[in-house]
Amino acid sequence: MAKSIEERVLGLIRGQRLVKRGDRVMVAVSGGKDSSTTAWILAKHAEDLGIKVALLHLYQGIPRYSDNALKDVKKLADKLKVPLYVHHWEDEWGMGLPGIVGRMRKASCYICGILKRYYQNVLPLEMGYNVVATGHNLDDAVGFTINNLITGQFEYIARLSPVLPESELTPRKIKPLFWIQEKEILAFAEENNIPFSRCQCPFQQLAPTYHIRRAFDVVEERRPGTRKAFVKNVMRLVERAKVAPEESKPNKCKYCGAPTRGKVCAVCKMKIRLGIKPERPRIQKEHVYVPEGAEGI
Ligand SMILES: [Zn+2]
Repeated sequence: MAKSIEERVLGLIRGQRLVKRGDRVMVAVSGGKDSSTTAWILAKHAEDLGIKVALLHLYQGIPRYSDNALKDVKKLADKLKVPLYVHHWEDEWGMGLPGIVGRMRKASCYICGILKRYYQNVLPLEMGYNVVATGHNLDDAVGFTINNLITGQFEYIARLSPVLPESELTPRKIKPLFWIQEKEILAFAEENNIPFSRCQCPFQQLAPTYHIRRAFDVVEERRPGTRKAFVKNVMRLVERAKVAPEESKPNKCKYCGAPTRGKVCAVCKMKIRLGIKPERPRIQKEHVYVPEGAEGI
C-alpha cells in the first residue's frame, strides 16, 4: 500500500534532518490547509522528534479575510495545544496590507511576499525560535521554479530545497510538505479534521504563479507524477550546472538586523518611505495566545 502523507512527511523530516532534538520550531500559519497540516504533523510528533512547536500568524489587516483567518488559526492552536504568536501589521505600520500596497504603488503580492519573508526571518529569532516551518507544497515548488525560469532568476532556483540551513541572521527554513501535492493535502486535512480556513486570499488571482499552477493541473492530470519529476530534475540540473544560490554572506540591516545585500533592508526602506520609524519588529505579550492545556512559551 502507498505510504500515507504523514509517513512521507516524517520520512523527509528524519531523512534530511529538517529538525534536530532541542529545536524550537515556529510554524508560519496563514489559516489555510497547507500550513495548518504542517503544524498538525509537527505538533503531533513533537515529542518523538524532541522539538518544541509554536505557531506564528501574520495578521495582514485585509478586511474580512484576516479576521476569518485569525479565528481559524486560534482554533488550530486550541486543538494542537501550542502557543500562537500573532503579529499585527496594523500595529507596526498604522495600516494593513491594502493600505501599504496603495501607498507603495506596487502589486499586492509583491509587497506581501517581501513582508512575509521578512517577518518569517526576523520574528522567530526575535521570539527565541531557531527554525521556521512553512506549508510550501509541491505545487508551490513548481510555480516558484517556472516563475524564476521566466524571469531568469536562476540563483533563486538554487534555493529549491525542503531545508535551508540557519545562519547568524536567519532561522533554518523547513518545508515538510515539499514533496506533497496540494490536492493530497486537502484530502488529508479533511480526513483528519484539521481546522483550516477555506477562505482564499482575495488577491490570489493576481499572484504571478496562479496561472502556472492551474496549467500544471491539466498536465498532472494527463501525466501523473509530472510535478514531482519536474522539481526533482530541476534540482539535479541545478546541481550539475553548479548554479550558486544568491547572496552567500548578506549584510545586517543597520536598523533592524535583518539580512540584506545593501546597508538597509527592503522593509526598512519601505518604512522610511512611508514615514514610519524603522526598527526590529517584535510581538507584544498581549498578542501571544497560550491555549488551555498548552505548555506555555
Ligand atoms: Zn531593516
